[in-house]
Amino acid sequence: MEFVHRPYIPGETIAALATAPGEAGIAIVRISGKNATDVAQKVFSKSVVKLKSHTVHYGKIILDGTCIDDVLLLVMRAPRSFTGEDTVEIHCHGGLVSKQVLEACIKAGAKAASPGEFSFKAFVNGKLDLAQAEAIQTKIGAKNEIALTLAQDQLEGRLSHKILDLQSQLTDIAAIFEAWVDFPEEDLEFAPFDDVIATLRTVMGQIQTLIASFDQGKVLQTGVAVSLIGSPNVGKSSLMNALLGKDRAIVSPIAGTTRDLVEDDMRLNNLHLRLIDTAGIRTTCESIEEEGIRRSKKASLQSDIILYVLDVTCPQEIDFDLPPEKTIGVWNKMDLPHSRPLPQLPFDHVVELSAQNGQGLDKLHQAIDALIWQKGAPRRDEVVITSLRHKEALAEALQCAERVVQGLLQKQSAEFISFDMRQCLQALGTIVGANITEDILTSVFSKFCIGK
Ligand code: GDP
Repeated sequence: MEFVHRPYIPGETIAALATAPGEAGIAIVRISGKNATDVAQKVFSKSVVKLKSHTVHYGKIILDGTCIDDVLLLVMRAPRSFTGEDTVEIHCHGGLVSKQVLEACIKAGAKAASPGEFSFKAFVNGKLDLAQAEAIQTKIGAKNEIALTLAQDQLEGRLSHKILDLQSQLTDIAAIFEAWVDFPEEDLEFAPFDDVIATLRTVMGQIQTLIASFDQGKVLQTGVAVSLIGSPNVGKSSLMNALLGKDRAIVSPIAGTTRDLVEDDMRLNNLHLRLIDTAGIRTTCESIEEEGIRRSKKASLQSDIILYVLDVTCPQEIDFDLPPEKTIGVWNKMDLPHSRPLPQLPFDHVVELSAQNGQGLDKLHQAIDALIWQKGAPRRDEVVITSLRHKEALAEALQCAERVVQGLLQKQSAEFISFDMRQCLQALGTIVGANITEDILTSVFSKFCIGK
């Protein structure tokens, strides 16, 4: 495994700032590896080498003979540490001085850690499996409380246990197939054919449920992109500002004011929404506006939810097909006189409101919430996957399991069936880090931040 500029060397001593950079009361410099206490000894004013594990000590950090900070030093000896190696944490002051403390540790012999290297050490030393290691980064990036809970569940091994459970159900069947390869004349008498197929189908159903949970997981993890689209002057920017509760987009009676995408974040019932205000859709000969309209159409098709805004005083529809399954019709300017009934819109959710006085905004919140959770919010006891890597591995396992079932039904040879069964188990194994290639490891840990 390559770590940015150098190959991974087991036990090598690395150091990094484990807290976010910048001005702060406290920062933590973390050192891990065979020589962690030796490195700490070279920079700390008191004896470190003989300190007992899991004890904290006050002292000074010395760089080039000068005291640069008063710190607390925490020693954790292998294997009782996050990485499974000797680890020292120096709790120093934040800001520039924390960088100097790190510099002192590097001068004392530690290598500057690369992104994810501490977690990688934890994985290599058997402290975490791969799914658990990934959960750390998911947890740090969680945008809401539900995502945080899911990441914590994954860190505690909920997903890993589910995968191990699937593997163990399949291993029993794989053993039958392997025996069948050795004794083909027995013709699968080791177990009733129907039972084998039934078990496979049950496990496949469980894999499908996990795959299906990815959409919810993604929503929770990365949030929901919501674009506002409609003709010029219908009140898209006003609605964006009303939803955000601040003046973000320019509101103007002059058509064509919003020419590029305006984006901002908001929270709705624990969810992270990314609102995107777009240029009004109309026919124009003006090239900048035309480009804005092209971007609007693209953004709306890429977003998870589209708010199609119409002016109730002048119900003009745009000449652009919107996907009905993710569109909410929004009649705006309800505070102004208008004729009824309003034209029918082909969407399940249609809301009437006034962006100007806020009337009906709560109904829009409810409609967005309903659209996000149309398949239901995850239950507390449900395992939800949030990683595309996991989804792809599960999809591969499912395909292999399907080939096994087809192979059995078509009376293929034991070798073929048993080969697909092994592939299926291997695909599941990659989720927790068994049979994993170096490429996958590099791609997983490179997404981490330095110091994790
Ligand atoms: P956009 O071009 O679709 O982004 O529309 P704007 O948000 O810039 O609004 C166009 C005009 O409609 C502005 O003069 C707004 O003040 C006005 N407007 C927007 N929403 C409402 C509303 O709910 N009621 C009323 N009376 N006027 C509105």
